Amino acid sequence: MTTAQPETVPKSFRPVEFEVTAGGEGFLLGSRCSNCGAHFFPVRQACSGCLHADLETVRFSTTATLYTFSVVRQSTPDFAVPYALGYVDLPEGVRVMAQLTGRDPEDYQIGMEMELVVEPFGADEDGNEMTGYRFQPKEGSQ
Ligand SMILES: [Zn+2]
Repeated sequence: MTTAQPETVPKSFRPVEFEVTAGGEGFLLGSRCSNCGAHFFPVRQACSGCLHADLETVRFSTTATLYTFSVVRQSTPDFAVPYALGYVDLPEGVRVMAQLTGRDPEDYQIGMEMELVVEPFGADEDGNEMTGYRFQPKEGSQ
C-alpha cells in the first residue's frame, strides 16, 4: 500500500539536542569548543576541558559504536517493554545514551557498529506526534 500524500515530519521530541530536517533526516546536536576542539553532548555554554566559552553548535555523525547496553523490563507507559537502552560512542568522542532498535533486546553485541534512526517518539501534551532517535545495528554488523 502506498500513499501519495506528502508527509510532514513530526517535530523533534527535544529540539535542543535532536534536529529533524524537512526531509526526515535526524541529527544529534552538541557543542564544539573553538579553542581546544572538544565536543560535548548535549549543547553546553562552556568547555569543561579548557573553560573556553566560545562553543559552536554542531551536528554529530550518525554512526556510532555500541559501548554497552541493558535490557529495560519496567518503564513508563510511554515505552513498550522490554527494550534495550545503551550507550553509544560517536566518532567525535562523545558518549550518548539512547534506546536501541532493530533487534530483539538481548541480541546486541558490545562493540557493534550502530547508526542513528529517526522514529516516532510518543506525543506531546497536546497529542501531537513527536520524532525521536534510536540507534540500530548497521547493515551487516554481526
Ligand atoms: Zn575547550
